[in-house]
Amino acid sequence: MNKSDSERMANFLEELGYETTEEKYKADLVIINTCGVRQLAEDRIYGFVPRIKKENPKVKIVITGCLSGRTDVQRRMNDYVDLWLLTKDMTKLAEFLNKADKRELPDSYLKIKPKYDSTFSALVPIGNGCDNFCTYCVVPHARGREVYRPAEDIINEVKELVGKGYKEIILIAQNVNSYESIINYELSITNKGNGRKINKKINFAELIRLVNDIPGNFWIRFATSHPKDMSDELIKALAECEKACHHIHLPVQAGDDEILARMNRKYTVEHCGLSWRKQKAVRRISEVGQRGKFRYDIHRQIQPTARYGCAENERRRFQAGEEKSRIGFD
Ligand code: SF4
Repeated sequence: MNKSDSERMANFLEELGYETTEEKYKADLVIINTCGVRQLAEDRIYGFVPRIKKENPKVKIVITGCLSGRTDVQRRMNDYVDLWLLTKDMTKLAEFLNKADKRELPDSYLKIKPKYDSTFSALVPIGNGCDNFCTYCVVPHARGREVYRPAEDIINEVKELVGKGYKEIILIAQNVNSYESIINYELSITNKGNGRKINKKINFAELIRLVNDIPGNFWIRFATSHPKDMSDELIKALAECEKACHHIHLPVQAGDDEILARMNRKYTVEHCGLSWRKQKAVRRISEVGQRGKFRYDIHRQIQPTARYGCAENERRRFQAGEEKSRIGFD
C-alpha cells in the first residue's frame, strides 16, 4: 500500500512542478513514506532524517505513512521535520509547497493519478484504512477507518491500464475482502451487460467479477485478505473468473484460538480454513468451474505459535519453519 501511495505522491509532485532526483542530499524536498509495522523500518528514520538535514539545512522534510501520526515519533524528530502528513491528507502537500493557488484538488487522495513504477504490473488501490483494530497493529490509528473507492473509478483505472498493455492488476487495500461500494454503473464498459445500468451495493466478490469482465488479456491478483471476510461467495467468484490468479493469500497470523482472541482477529482456527469442510468446498468449486488447478494453501502454525507466542516475528517464524505444515491440494 505504501508503494502505491508513493506512486500517487510522485505524480502529484510532478504536477506541482517537481522533478525526481537520485541525489537525496541535494534535493529541495524529501518525503519519507514510513512503515510502522517493523521496528527496523522505524529505526531507520532516526538516523536518516537528521543526516539529511545536516547535509542540506535548506531541505524541506515531510514524513508521511504510518509514523506520521505517532506523537512519540513527532516529539523525537520535530526539530528536523517540516511537515507531518497523514497519507489520506496527501493533497495538503500543495498548500505546504505554496502551490495550491487556483488548483483544483481532488477530495480524496485515491483520485490522484499514480506514476506507475512498472510497465507490466500495476497496484490499484480499492480502499484505504482499517476498522479491525488488531491489538498489535498501528494501521487503523495511522490510516484511519476504512474508506473504499467507488467501483467506477477502479474499473476505469484498470481499463486504462489494460489498454496500455499492463498484464498484472493487483487490487490492494488493508482488507480487500471487506470492500463495499454503491455502484451506479453502465455495464457496457465491460464486455458484458449490453449497456445495462446497475445501481446497487457491491462487495469484493462482485468487484472481482466486474474487473474480470473488462476485455483484454491480464491477470487479477489482490492483497490483503482478512480471514474473517473470506466468504464462500468470494471463493466461488475466484474459481469462476478466468482472469483471477489461482492463489489466495490469507494472513492467518496464528493457529491458536486463544492467541487469535488476544490479537483481536475475530475468527477462529476453524473459520480461517483449516477445516476440511472449507477445503472440500474449494475443490468442488474448482471442479464446477472446470478451471484446472485451484490451490488453497494454508500455513499451519499451531506449534510455533504456542511456543513463541506471535507468528508475526519473521526470525522466529523462520526458526519454526520445520514445524510448519502445509495443507494444500490441487
Ligand atoms: S486487519 Fe490488518 S491492517 Fe487492520 S488492524 Fe488488523 S493487522 Fe492491522
